Amino acid sequence: MEVTIETVRVELDKYLKLMNLAHWEITVVYEGVDKDNFATVDSLPAYMRAELAFNLDLLQDITVLRKKIVHELLHMQLGQYTDVANIFAGAKKKILNELEERIVTEIERWPLWEKI
Ligand SMILES: [Zn+2]
Repeated sequence: MEVTIETVRVELDKYLKLMNLAHWEITVVYEGVDKDNFATVDSLPAYMRAELAFNLDLLQDITVLRKKIVHELLHMQLGQYTDVANIFAGAKKKILNELEERIVTEIERWPLWEKI
């Protein structure tokens, strides 16, 4: 199954509902992602607004697309926590950023997502 812009929108809407995030204002773009990255998120949690960028060249497998949507939606929620925690961590903030990445990646790989 080819992953198109329409596929991304349908899957994204599905996961926004499943993860109780459908009230967020989401903008989706398909440029500005490094060639080695699947997707990125830039969020403004205070306004529940985010821009998700997808690299369709790397996201041609629907299973991978779904996992990366989950991954970015988790970052969307955790980003504000990590930003604040980084203030307290000072020079050790690299550890916090790596921990957020680890947690997000662990959840992205939960078998639960394959049951949906
Ligand atoms: Zn990540």
